[in-house]
Amino acid sequence: MNFLGSLISLASAGMLMLSSSLMTLAPQHDIEGLLFLCNREWTIAESYVPASLREADVPGQVRRMRPEAAAALEEMFAACQEETGVTLMSISGYRSYASQKNIYQRKLDSVRGNVAKAQQYVAPPGTSEHTLGLAMDIGQKKKPHLTEAFAATEGGVWARENCWRFGFILRYDQAWEEITGYSYEPWHFRYVGRELAKEIHDSGLPLELWLPGYRTRRLLALLGVPEAEAVSDPVPSSEPNS
Ligand SMILES: [Zn+2]
Repeated sequence: MNFLGSLISLASAGMLMLSSSLMTLAPQHDIEGLLFLCNREWTIAESYVPASLREADVPGQVRRMRPEAAAALEEMFAACQEETGVTLMSISGYRSYASQKNIYQRKLDSVRGNVAKAQQYVAPPGTSEHTLGLAMDIGQKKKPHLTEAFAATEGGVWARENCWRFGFILRYDQAWEEITGYSYEPWHFRYVGRELAKEIHDSGLPLELWLPGYRTRRLLALLGVPEAEAVSDPVPSSEPNS
């Protein structure tokens, strides 16, 4: 058993007092936290509603998000305007579980109940980050919305390169489809907070694959193990949600 394996065994055997730190080690399950992992496998409960939402003061529609995400969005849009002269727009922020359910049901009806086909276009209820209040679909004024063409717009390029400065990450990049379960969406940005957005952005990894390494580092820190000692243990990447 490798070093990391030993540590995990110790922890799971209850030999270490970790109970108060469980959310520290499992931020992907903390729905009030900024790292909650939501995808087709890990879903949001039907009863969940964010504790607080507010309209971001930006151009566009469906502008509600959690307050910290809304504030960050405002700063991001203002910076884009200042640095490039381009006006970004909100296309779609918070969507409740119920409204996602309605949208999904309508799509399902329109394709005569073909689930695979419906899911190509609309996320089933509980699987959309929009229900967390932490996601925003962004567009550029007078440019195509919610299409891959957004990626080539000045605003799309700027948002991709600069979103991390404001605490956002591009969640569904090209070539991540197998991992995230979502097609390329150059318009969908997820708020994770400034503290970690740069790290996630720099890693070049989707959230699903970045989280295990992050959790390992948290565990080692909790156990007081210097990172240098743990370097020889490769970060597991095949089981992002274990
Ligand atoms: Zn979206």
